[in-house]
Amino acid sequence: MQVKTQLEDIQNYLTDASNMPGGHASRLLIPESAEEITSILRDANEDGEQVTISGARTGTVGGAVPFGGTVISLERLNTININKEARTATVGTGVILADLQKAVEAEELFYPPDPTEWSCQVGGTVATNASGARSFKYGATRDFVERLRVVLVDGDFLDIRRGQFVGDGDTLSVTTEGGRSVEFKLPTYDPPDVRKNVSGLYNSRPFDAIDLFIGSEGTLGVVTEVELRLVEKSDSFFSGIVFFENEVDLLAFVSEAKHHSISNFTSEMSDPFGASLIEYFDANALKFISEKFPETPEKMAGAIFFEQETSAENEDDLLTKWNELLEKHNAAVDASWFTTNDQDREKMRAFRHALPVSVNERVVRNRQRKIGTDMAVPDANFASFLKFYKEILDASGIDYVIFGHMGDCHLHANLLPKDDAEAEKARHIYGRCVAQAIMLGGCVSAEHGIGKLKRKYLHAMMGERYLNEMADVKRAFDPKGILGRGNMFDESYL
Ligand SMILES: Cc1cc2nc3c(=O)[nH]c(=O)nc-3n(C[C@H](O)[C@H](O)[C@H](O)COP(=O)(O)OP(=O)(O)OC[C@H]3O[C@@H](n4cnc5c(N)ncnc54)[C@H](O)[C@@H]3O)c2cc1C
Repeated sequence: MQVKTQLEDIQNYLTDASNMPGGHASRLLIPESAEEITSILRDANEDGEQVTISGARTGTVGGAVPFGGTVISLERLNTININKEARTATVGTGVILADLQKAVEAEELFYPPDPTEWSCQVGGTVATNASGARSFKYGATRDFVERLRVVLVDGDFLDIRRGQFVGDGDTLSVTTEGGRSVEFKLPTYDPPDVRKNVSGLYNSRPFDAIDLFIGSEGTLGVVTEVELRLVEKSDSFFSGIVFFENEVDLLAFVSEAKHHSISNFTSEMSDPFGASLIEYFDANALKFISEKFPETPEKMAGAIFFEQETSAENEDDLLTKWNELLEKHNAAVDASWFTTNDQDREKMRAFRHALPVSVNERVVRNRQRKIGTDMAVPDANFASFLKFYKEILDASGIDYVIFGHMGDCHLHANLLPKDDAEAEKARHIYGRCVAQAIMLGGCVSAEHGIGKLKRKYLHAMMGERYLNEMADVKRAFDPKGILGRGNMFDESYL
């Protein structure tokens, strides 16, 4: 195990993509095996010393940013074992997602979770229940986790398989490898009626204990190994970035495309016409991204990136159907980009990825922090929420871009303040957007999590009672509150 205490060696581990300031730690430990983590946690727990778990620090809410104590980096737990027949991948949680994707691809299989930033670690994606564009069809990371191995604060392992510890009473127990039972009270809050939600600890009925650890943001244990379900890869794809001169047409196109897609995912009848992802760029986002992609057409009201899975038998028919739908809704077809080859598809992914990256670069250049929303609302309230976003942001006079997962009613409105006065105003607007999302039955975080930066919004969404229920669950696994301190709850809950 590597032990580092010099500031220059640990500096990179003191912040994440949020640029949250003030991170500090007394040491960084880089274990070579899961077993080494057991003694680290046991000692820290005895001393009541806090431990922050570090993935690749691409998180945007300060979850991996330490404020004292020890940082454990999982980067050496990086084995990948793919069982082609069983269609599973068993991986160390320090594996970089892009490496997993490559290894899975080499076996001609497919791992759908697609958070835009592929330099994250698999452990980070499990701890944040990461999702992305393809979650529209395939769901989030949770939907692919079959088994987890977790080190608990007393150094004992919990090896937990989906379906192994399930309950719908008031409490549920899990049994560790050492034979200890950990009992916790099942929360009573109802999940919001949205397609994606990572706002605090998970709840559902029946409750599968494996789901508690997925999205728990490093607050319950160190996840060291994960078994992931893989799926069959589509033979081929038809992808498009389609531009619209008129926002009303764009929204009508999305509504109809979404309708086809969702009935395709849910119906037993196999009409394959439907997108696996539907991503949005508003007019400002297009202007912004044209700095890196000058071929972006000018004066468009917005664009949609969609992908259709195809096979040799149905490709022609599906291309015709998409063309009809685009023409029906007045897409600027001649200015739009389409492809059926992997190379151009990668370029489209790069176009999508360039947007959040450029936003981060711009805020750093402005010496500000990103103020970006991550709320999702129920389908029925999406149009009114988008209207609210545009009205409040236009009125603010602050530069902004809106983009993201329109298929899942989950957009990122990113404000780009130029100075401290604009930043303060932007934070106020952010708070109003949160309030509006909650009022519409939505959630405060659909994919980035709560971390340290969004605690007060979790409080606004859940209220005292339910936040205390989450804290009760946390205490059952981590009575001294040493793990991921400051994530989700402030210290008054522990
Ligand atoms: C440009 C950009 C685009 C992004 N787009 C998306 C997107 O589309 N969808 C999305 O979901 N996210 C997105 N993100 C956020 C981020 O990439 C994900 O949250 C990612 O899953 C974090 O992984 P990580 O390894 O970097 O984790 P970190 O940032 O290092 O950690 C995140 C949290 O997980 C905990 N953690 C990490 N590893 C473990 C472990 N092994 N056991 C227990 N806890 C652990 C940490 O303590 C922390 O609380 C984006 C980020 C950037 C910078």
